[in-house]
Formats: sequence, C-alpha cells, structure tokens
Amino acid sequence: MVQVNVMLTNYQYKLLPTADQASRMTRWLDMLRHQYNWLLAERFDWWEHHRCPINACPLTCSIAEPRERPEYYGQKRSLVQLKQEREWYKDIHAHVLQDMVKRVDLAFSRFIKGDYNGNRSGKPRFKGKNRYRTFKFPTVKADCIQGNRVTLPKLGAIKFIQHRPIPGGFKVKGAMVTLKADGWYVTLVLEDKTVPVQPETTTEPTPENSIGVDAGLEYFIACSDGSTETPTKFYRQVQEQLSKLQVKREERPKGSKARRKLNQRIARLHQKIARQRRQWHFEVAGRLLDKADVVFVEKLRVKNMSRKNKPKPDGDGGFAPNGQAAKSGLNKSFADAGISGFLNEILPYKAAKAGKRVIQVNPAGTSQHCAICLNRVLKELSDRWHDCPNCGASLPRDVNSGILIKKVGLGIASLKNAKSRQRDGEARALCTA
Ligand SMILES: [Zn+2]
Repeated sequence: MVQVNVMLTNYQYKLLPTADQASRMTRWLDMLRHQYNWLLAERFDWWEHHRCPINACPLTCSIAEPRERPEYYGQKRSLVQLKQEREWYKDIHAHVLQDMVKRVDLAFSRFIKGDYNGNRSGKPRFKGKNRYRTFKFPTVKADCIQGNRVTLPKLGAIKFIQHRPIPGGFKVKGAMVTLKADGWYVTLVLEDKTVPVQPETTTEPTPENSIGVDAGLEYFIACSDGSTETPTKFYRQVQEQLSKLQVKREERPKGSKARRKLNQRIARLHQKIARQRRQWHFEVAGRLLDKADVVFVEKLRVKNMSRKNKPKPDGDGGFAPNGQAAKSGLNKSFADAGISGFLNEILPYKAAKAGKRVIQVNPAGTSQHCAICLNRVLKELSDRWHDCPNCGASLPRDVNSGILIKKVGLGIASLKNAKSRQRDGEARALCTA
C-alpha cells in the first residue's frame, strides 16, 4: 500500500538537448546496456553452477570451481576495474553507473526471491538495443534548474520545456533521463520536507462511506452503487491505423531508412495510446474517490486472468472449442484497459493524496454468488448478467460482484468456503456431462 512518508513527487519535462548532448546520452545508454547484460550474465552463470539444495549436491554434473557469488557490492566494486580496462566508461557519471548495478540486483533478486510481497518476477531479460532507455542520477544539485535549463552532472546544462513550474517549497533531489519514442525526457524527483508527513488514513469503513469496485471486462470497473466506467478502447481505435503502418513496414527492406521512420511512427502511436489511457485512469480514480472515503478493490492476479485456456480434446483426435478465441478477445481488452496499473498504482496514489483509503479484498467467489442473498449462482465467463433464481435479483454481473466485494470488505458477507464449494460444483458438473 502506498504510504506517504516524505512529500515526494515526480515531474516530467521534455528535454531539448543539442546534437552533442543527445549523442553522448545515446552512447551512455549503449554502454550501460552492455554492462547491464554483462553483469546479469555473471549472475546467471553463478546461479547455474552453484544452485542446489545443500544436502543433495548432484553428482551427475561436474563440480565447478567455487567462486564468489556475484552480489550488489561486489559488482559495484568491479566498476573500478571496468573503468581501467575500458576507459570510455569514465565518461559516464559514477552514480549513474552504480545505479545500473542496482538495477541488475533488483531484477535478479525479484526473480530469485520475489519482491516484498513475495511475488516473483520472470527471468530478467538481456536487454536489446531498444530496451534500455533510462539512466538515473540519484542525486543532483538543488539549484540545477536555471531558467529553461537543467544542469545534469557531466552532461551540462540542457534546455527543457518547462510546461509547468516546479511547485514552491520543493527541492530537486534526483533526476532520471529517458529516451522515448518522441525524444528525451527528464523526470525530476522533488521533495518537500516542510510539508508535514501525512498520517496513514485510518478511516473505518462503513456501509455509507465505502464503495466496492469490481474490475470488469465489459466495463472497466463496476461499482457497488451501480455506476460503471466503460473502457475506452484506445488500442482498438487506432488498431487499424497501426496495422496499416505495420504492413507498410514489412514492405520496406530491413535496415532501410524508410523502415526506421515507420518504426518511429508506430512507436509514437503506442506512446499516444499509453498517455491517453493514463490520463483517463486518473480521471476515473478522481470520480471514484469523490464518491467514497474507503474503496474496496479486489486483489488482482492478472496473470491468472490472461492465462490461456486448457485445450479440450473432442475425443476424435481433434479439439473441441475451449473458449480461447473468445478469451483472446477478452485478454486483449483486458491488457488494453490496464486494470492492474489502475488498481495497484494510480488509485492508491490518488487516495493517499486525498487522505482516503483503498483496501484490497480477496475476490474468491465474488463473481459466482448473489450479492443480495449470497446464494451460489454459477456463471460462465461469457454470461454478462446476474439472475438469481433464489431471490430474483437481476443486475449486471460486474455490479453484482462490486456489491459483494463491498460486503466482503465490510465483513458482512463471508465467502470463505467459496473455493472448495466451487470445486465441488465443477466436479458435479463434470459427472453429469
Ligand atoms: Zn439472490
């Protein structure tokens, strides 16, 4: 959960570097990427040779010379040698280099150990040319902004478009430089120590001050008060435009100038979609927080939701429809709508700023029960309406879930056994099939 300890905020501005500055930054990115990949390989290499349970060393493989395990501090120390052997690395600011080592450490430990919630990330990837686009100065001078220029260590004063002023009382703490589809950007980390630390909100949820939110597919979100937000399908809107460009690109020879230009146009289109979506998410969060002091949301596991359906043999050597085609469509609008970024980042961020609360609720069973009488009503993924044969409730499926999420969150409904009952139900369904 987001906790505001120090008043920190990020402001992003577009940079207008000179040709020299731009080519230097591009060179930095390239060098950083190479070293990132090298250090990552060192980690993988050690891991492959040494990992085994302590009491069960596999005798089938050769025993490698025991080596020191690469870790953050060791890899950071190796930078000294790097700068001796490859002098051109001296051009990069020391803190920027160290931050790259930290990125390796973070990517690798999230893969091995998981983050603070225990969620493990996938295997870190070696980064190709277009996948390493950011470097970071953890600290910069407080007076680095002079007029329309920002002074960054080693790079000097770079012109930038100050489309909004830096808020009064804030000091620039750090800076991040990013290469995007349409040019260079700087993200300034701003800090204000004079703003009193915002205490964590402890508003107790009541039926009156709270709202339940279900992340839907038909709707982006559906709320317990019956309101819904429909996904603006940015991606689909421009999909046609995008596929035309992609066809055009394939017609151009690889490595040609025309192809590179088309690549840039495609990248800018993706960037536009992402920006529109983010903007819309902030608006939705604002509308939601206007309605309630406590928002109950489901604890999302997006990975599960976009998993492929199991193949269903038809007993004739072929495969019966397993709903994958329909789901692919759903997956698409799901990824499209970016629900997890909304629920896990934007909404908690907006709530913390407004002194409101977001509480995560276990969603098990919330789509398969009636919000009014808690009776079990089985639904397929394609059933968009909830009709309860028991109490006669009839409402959109997602709104029904929203109400249930609120009730579970408030502790006035318990669906604890939902999961095992669901399994029984499925078992029964299979027997009769
Ligand atoms: Zn009912």
